[in-house]
Amino acid sequence: MPLSLDLKQNFATPITVEYSVDSNMFESMENSLVKGGKLTVGVTAHQAPEGIRLAFSITGKAVVECDRCLEDMEVDINTCEEVSVQNADHYEDAADVVYVDESLTQLDLWPMVYDFIVLAIPISHHHPEGQCNKDMSDKLNQYMVQQPDEENNE
Ligand SMILES: [Zn+2]
Repeated sequence: MPLSLDLKQNFATPITVEYSVDSNMFESMENSLVKGGKLTVGVTAHQAPEGIRLAFSITGKAVVECDRCLEDMEVDINTCEEVSVQNADHYEDAADVVYVDESLTQLDLWPMVYDFIVLAIPISHHHPEGQCNKDMSDKLNQYMVQQPDEENNE
């Protein structure tokens, strides 16, 4: 677990850990929307009354398929998220809570970080105008159903 957090530390004083995410980690995810990337993940953990509060700061670049030409493209990621780690005994199904068994010593942060990166990718993403792979976008256009009033737009 390259992004593991030792839960047996004393978080009374906030602890900050920095992790690196590289393309290999995305390749380990099945059917990943994100093909690769290089990101820095900063995590600050501190003890809050309800559990251990984790504040994530994720910056870098993620590689995804362009909507238009399906070639790889990079999107900038710059996102902050917070979750609280709580004992599974008090399960309440809250959105920003990660429930762990009391005996867990190492928490794998990667599934959370992966979700945060995916959430930070714009729903629509494509190369800047005119920078798509032209052969590929021409081919794709042939298969698209064209609306009659759009045919002469280009
Ligand atoms: Zn493109």
